[in-house]
Amino acid sequence: MGSANLTIDLDAIVANWRALDAMTNCETAAVVKADGYGLGAERVAKALAQAGARRFFVAVAEEGAAVRNALGPNADILVFGGHMRGDTDMINDLYLTPMLNSLDQLTRHFEALPNAPFGIQLDSGMNRLGMESPEWDAVRDIVASQGPVLVMSHLACADTPDHAMNRQQLARFRAMTDDMTAPRSLAATGGILLGPEYHFDLTRPGIGLYGGLPFADAQPVASLSLPVIQTRDLVAGETVGYGNTWTTNTSATIATLSGGYADGLMRALGNGATLWANDIACPLVGRVSMDLITVDISHLHEVPRHLDILGPLQTVDALAEKAGTIGYEILTSLGPRYTRRYSGGFAQ
Ligand SMILES: *Cc1c(COP(=O)(O)O)cnc(C)c1O
Repeated sequence: MGSANLTIDLDAIVANWRALDAMTNCETAAVVKADGYGLGAERVAKALAQAGARRFFVAVAEEGAAVRNALGPNADILVFGGHMRGDTDMINDLYLTPMLNSLDQLTRHFEALPNAPFGIQLDSGMNRLGMESPEWDAVRDIVASQGPVLVMSHLACADTPDHAMNRQQLARFRAMTDDMTAPRSLAATGGILLGPEYHFDLTRPGIGLYGGLPFADAQPVASLSLPVIQTRDLVAGETVGYGNTWTTNTSATIATLSGGYADGLMRALGNGATLWANDIACPLVGRVSMDLITVDISHLHEVPRHLDILGPLQTVDALAEKAGTIGYEILTSLGPRYTRRYSGGFAQ
């Protein structure tokens, strides 16, 4: 097998969902956008549905179609991007629930599908998606009369608990919605950790389910193991890889592994990331190529068949730090060439 193995522990995802659910007294949904943060939306959604999750969020209607396929009729699938031009048939045929973000979307939805469920996304200060106060004021009575299934907003700085923006957005969200009877939602993973004031009726964790920060107590979910294709012995003074960016000053054994920047192992990981042979650290040397990386295994007694780049000894956030990014980007960059395997009782 030339491609790397990405093992996804569905029991860990379920345990993370339950742990986040146990922190609140309200409903806990699951965010499965971007193909379940790169780990496979259909398998993740099925496992969480089996564990009791009833509402699933995706970014766009097309993602919702894939999740509906996996889950069948007995789950609510909500679309953050709302009701876009061209989405009407998919929303109607697959019972997707758009979060309407603007007057345009509101008009489109009410005209095309007057009796279909919808939610509302409000902008409480992030300036990204959702209606702002003036347009909201103009339509809130009409919206209220149509019975939205959810009124939600999103926090910009929830991963920084002391950030003043959290309280500002909470206050603004309350001012925009306190007189509504519809269920409300403000918290993603970070917001859950901010405490009960932020929980309202429904939380929307994503990254915490998949083992990432800011949920520091999350169980790790993804393990990525790269096969060794070939090894070679170098003498002092030889270089490795494109641009000759690494030179050995002793004799060395270099392993060439399947997996590169086309698989989400960013070029920024070159000359700095660590791979693991069980519990022995091995440095990535030279540049990351499109399909390959090179690793110094001089100190190992035998050539391993695989080296691990994600696992219990290197979490998605630890790897992210080495690439100058965040766990979210590591996960959602995990490429389509990996063989995704699912482990745990929830994989049955
Ligand atoms: C991505 C997203 C979430 C989930 O956020 P996490 O930080 O991954 O928990 C929740 N709500 C909205 C609007 C999002 O875009």
